[in-house]
Amino acid sequence: MVHTSNFVKVKCPDCQNEQVAFKRPATPVTCHVCGSTLIKPKGGNGTVKGQLLEVVD
Ligand SMILES: [Zn+2]
Repeated sequence: MVHTSNFVKVKCPDCQNEQVAFKRPATPVTCHVCGSTLIKPKGGNGTVKGQLLEVVD
């Protein structure tokens, strides 16, 4: 079984909330605090709208 977890920690540009999100989402990832879109789905890796802080394995 191949382990392919691709998670990133992103910072919300609107409220500075930091959260871990899936890097290749099927639906937009929104901020848990203010609802701002953090990652938009785009085929493979999503487009990160917030600030990418680190990649979490
Ligand atoms: Zn936010």
